[in-house]
Amino acid sequence: MTLTICPYCGTGCQIEVDYSGDHYTVHGYTRSVVNEGKLCIKGYQGLSYAGSRDRITSPMIRRGDVWTEVSWDEALDYVARRLTEIRDKYGPDSIAFQASAKCTNEENYLIQKIARMMGTNNVDHCARSCHSSTVAGLIRTLGTAAATGSIKSLKSTETFFVIGSNTTEQHPIIGTTIIRQKKAGKKLIVADPRRTKLASIADVFLQFRPGSDVALLNSMMFVILKENLIDSEFIRTRTTDFDAFAAEIEKYPPEITEQITGVSPDLLEKAAELYAGNRPSAILYGMGITQHIHGTENVMSVSNLALMTGNIGRYGSGIFPLRGQNNVQGSSDMGALSEFYPGYIPADSDGVERFEKIWGAKLPRNIGLMLSEMFDAAIDGRVKAIYLMGENPVITEANLSDVEKGLKNLDLFVVQDIFMTETAKFAHVILPASSALEKDGTFTNTERRIQRVVAVKDPPGDAKPDWWILSQLYSRLFHREAYRSPEEIFNEIRVAIPNYSGAKYENLYPDGKQWPINDQHPEGTEILHVERFTRGLGRFMAIPYKPPSETPDDQYPFILTTGRNYYHWHSGTMTRRSDILERESPNPYVEISVNDAKKLSIRNGQSITVESRHGSIRLPAMVTSKIPDGIVFVPFHFKEARVNLLVGENLDPYSKIPEFKVVAVRVIA
Ligand code: SF4
Repeated sequence: MTLTICPYCGTGCQIEVDYSGDHYTVHGYTRSVVNEGKLCIKGYQGLSYAGSRDRITSPMIRRGDVWTEVSWDEALDYVARRLTEIRDKYGPDSIAFQASAKCTNEENYLIQKIARMMGTNNVDHCARSCHSSTVAGLIRTLGTAAATGSIKSLKSTETFFVIGSNTTEQHPIIGTTIIRQKKAGKKLIVADPRRTKLASIADVFLQFRPGSDVALLNSMMFVILKENLIDSEFIRTRTTDFDAFAAEIEKYPPEITEQITGVSPDLLEKAAELYAGNRPSAILYGMGITQHIHGTENVMSVSNLALMTGNIGRYGSGIFPLRGQNNVQGSSDMGALSEFYPGYIPADSDGVERFEKIWGAKLPRNIGLMLSEMFDAAIDGRVKAIYLMGENPVITEANLSDVEKGLKNLDLFVVQDIFMTETAKFAHVILPASSALEKDGTFTNTERRIQRVVAVKDPPGDAKPDWWILSQLYSRLFHREAYRSPEEIFNEIRVAIPNYSGAKYENLYPDGKQWPINDQHPEGTEILHVERFTRGLGRFMAIPYKPPSETPDDQYPFILTTGRNYYHWHSGTMTRRSDILERESPNPYVEISVNDAKKLSIRNGQSITVESRHGSIRLPAMVTSKIPDGIVFVPFHFKEARVNLLVGENLDPYSKIPEFKVVAVRVIA
């Protein structure tokens, strides 16, 4: 049995795995502080993808329409030569790198280092599409872009406020913690357009309209201020800019915001009184908060709410952005973001000098292209080459027709992955990589816990760990010695990122450590912002409500919101190759309310068309009472019905996250 980490959601459950031949057994690690032996169905039943016959087992170069298997030397020499030629001919910003939250910290650190040493900050990853607004929002208000507490500390929470998170489906082990605490008498507020499982057991359920988050939160804060439920001492000693913020929220009495949110004043008042009056309170949110053109403002509003009630820096309180993929926190920490070097050092600041010294190279000081901008840049010819590791943007990105157009226009498209994904089909070169079960390294989970990932089996055929592939490329590009192990890379990370400096492979095993771990905090840090915020004082932001980019009208009368389901993950490349998960959820579907289905004469299971201004898909209807009238929901896992074809190009101005959660559509039976 090998102790490692579940490769799926950001909870980071510890698993013990025995993988031999085609069979494996898996258990939750009973001593784990994260999951205490528990696993969800993805942890128990979702690992068979690693043994799939679909795995790519040899490097390949496409000549015309024909894929030719080549040796590693030939593939790597070719990629290094072509990247260098394109960089030298068109300039460093003509190349772009896409990192991956599925990969380890070591791999993300290395890919962003390669990009920057080649002279470009065009390096980004899928956090752009899920939690970049968390980074932009929390850095502005608190100074640190991460959960402020631990999963364990939630046992001391008196009131849970879950907004924009279907926690029992997306982070099931955290969802279980909330259910257990609720059964033990704790309070639960849920705000969500859909009636989720947690909503059905909540003390207060705020079923609000998609895109009205700021109005909802400002109105809750209006009530808290009016009823003097604020923490005046905390505001006076620990925060700044309260007065301008207070002047703004005075404009949001519940009777007015009801017209925007659809939430009645009495429910809203009850929620405000519970959150502010029954402390410590914790806010947990997911992509329902972040994936909007006002995603950063939504996050800053969440921050305002915690700050005005002193619900931060105290055990059982805090803000918990729930990270979707296993290593979103870590890959962001590693600087796989076009605006940040490792440790969130702004890419356009003098802080870059530190990396010039550590890496011994002149480095770019500008904000690079973000993931959502790279494909447009490929269409207009500014970007000529993309190197992509472990992601599938042809399913997961917004504005999909432009993604495909961009990929077709590239001179060089290199894909490093474990499967021939829909994206990999556009590639010129494929480099066969390893699953999380076939390599060593570290992931950092949603509570900042750096955990050891340990190989449980060998990669198939000639596939190699991603760190090895990148290391060989690094050596060819810069004529330097290749890294010999993930631990060697990690030891460089400890130098580059002060919050990781005290972490070592030996002290991370078995429990992991929450960063910052350094000389001041040798055992790590469970709760952030206890005596001071990372930025000094917590900062209030006055956030006026603005409507979403698309609202329903006569032509497109429904709001489409996208997301995930319990059985699948991301673009489905892994879960859909795991038999039991695929058996439980084999087909795409669109959830539609009972009333709307009746009005449109739609039967459960009938194939219907969902069409937006940007595209159209056809898929079976799931008639359900979970969803309110006027809203439809489609999970994004299914290549047969790519819902992101319907999502437009509108981006949050701070974080450039697309608006996946509010799209005006029509439904045709
Ligand atoms: S909760 Fe997340 S990390 Fe835990 S077993 Fe399920 S998918 Fe894996």
